[in-house]
Amino acid sequence: MPSPVIKKLSEFGEGFKHHHENYEAYSISRIRETGGVWDFGDLVFYFPEHFGFCYGVDKAIDMVFETCERFEGRRIFLTDQLIHNPYINGKLRERGVSYLKRDSHNLLVCDELKSTDVVVVSAFGTDFRDILSLKEKGVTIVDSTCGAIINVWKRVEGYAKKGFITVMHGKRNHEETRATLSQAVKEGGSYLAIENKAEALELAAVIRGEMAEKVFLAKYPGSAPEGFSFDAATCKMGMANQTTMLKGESLEIQDLLRKAFITRFGEPATLERFKSFDTICGATQDRQDALMNLLEKPLDLILIVGGFNSSNTSHLAELAYGHRPFYHIEGAGDILSKQEIQSRNPQDGHIEVKRSWFPSDAKHIGITSGASTPDVTLVEIIQKLRELKG
Ligand code: SF4
Repeated sequence: MPSPVIKKLSEFGEGFKHHHENYEAYSISRIRETGGVWDFGDLVFYFPEHFGFCYGVDKAIDMVFETCERFEGRRIFLTDQLIHNPYINGKLRERGVSYLKRDSHNLLVCDELKSTDVVVVSAFGTDFRDILSLKEKGVTIVDSTCGAIINVWKRVEGYAKKGFITVMHGKRNHEETRATLSQAVKEGGSYLAIENKAEALELAAVIRGEMAEKVFLAKYPGSAPEGFSFDAATCKMGMANQTTMLKGESLEIQDLLRKAFITRFGEPATLERFKSFDTICGATQDRQDALMNLLEKPLDLILIVGGFNSSNTSHLAELAYGHRPFYHIEGAGDILSKQEIQSRNPQDGHIEVKRSWFPSDAKHIGITSGASTPDVTLVEIIQKLRELKG
C-alpha cells in the first residue's frame, strides 16, 4: 500500500487544530500588538518589529503536535530536529517522539521501520532519497517542510534540468542545505556548496581559470557530490542560498561570481552561463532588518535568543556583533548569575561563560529571538533578569 503523505495541517482532516499552547506567551503577544516596549520601571525591554517564530516553524510545530494527538499509540519519528530549539525538542521528547538515525552519507537508516510507524519530516525538509526510503517502508509521512524552502528546491531543480551546476551559499552540514542540494541530484544535476565569501573568492578564481578545479574540490571536501568534477571553461552555474543566510553576504557572493564569469567570458556569454536568485526567505529578512532598526536605539545591553545551532539566530548575532554588549543565549538557563552568562561567540561559534556581563546600571535592554524561538523562552529570560535586578 502506498505511504499516506500529509503535507498541511488541514490534511489531518476534520477537527485539526493549532497547538500554540506549546510556545505562546500572552504577554509577548501583547508586546507585538502594542509597539515593542515592556516597561518595568527599573528595567525596560525593547523588542524589534519582527522576532520569534516564522510561519514555517509555526506550521511545523502545529503539524508535529497534531501528529502526536492523531497517532497516539503509534511510534512517531522525526527525520531531524524539528527546528533548532532545545525547548521545543525537549517537549517532543516528553511526548515520546524519537529521531531516526542517519548513515555516513547522511541518509536515513530505515531498516527498523514498520508500516504502522509515522515519520515527521522536519521544517528543513530532507534528502529526496530519504522520502523514497520512507515510501518503500509504507510508513505514514507527515511532511512539514517549509514552503519557502520548497520554492528554493524548484529553482535548483530548474538549474539541474538546464545543465547548470547549483552553487549554494549555505552551511554544508545544515539539514536544509543537504535537502536542497539533493534536489539537484534528483534531476541528474550536480552542485557546489560554499559557506562564505572567502570560499566564494576561491571559486571565482577557478571560474577565471586562475585555480585548478580539482584543487578547489580537494580543499573543500563535502562541497560537491563524491566523484564530481567540472570544467570551468565550459560549465554553467546557477546560484541559490540557504534561506536563513545574511542577505548582504549572499548578494556579495553572487556579484563576485558573476564578475568572474564576465572577466573570463564577457557579458553576453555570462547571461547564458550564470544565473542567480536571492532565496533568503521573507521572514529571515524581516528579522534581520528589524534588528538593525533596534540596534539604533540607545541600549545598555542586547540579548539575542535562539538555539546555538540555529542558522537564522546565529546570523542575528553576527549583525549585533560590535554594537554595545550583546549575548547570544538559548534560554534563561544560560543566565547563570548576575556575574556569569553562557553565550555563543558569533565569530568562532564557541560557547563560553562570560563574567561581569550585566552592567549594574543596565536599564534599557534590547531583546530579540530567532525564527525558531518560542515566546515563552523570552518571558523566562525577562523574569530572570528582573530577579537579578532585584
Ligand atoms: S526561516 Fe523562512 S525558510 Fe526557514 S522555516 Fe521560517 S519561513 Fe521557512
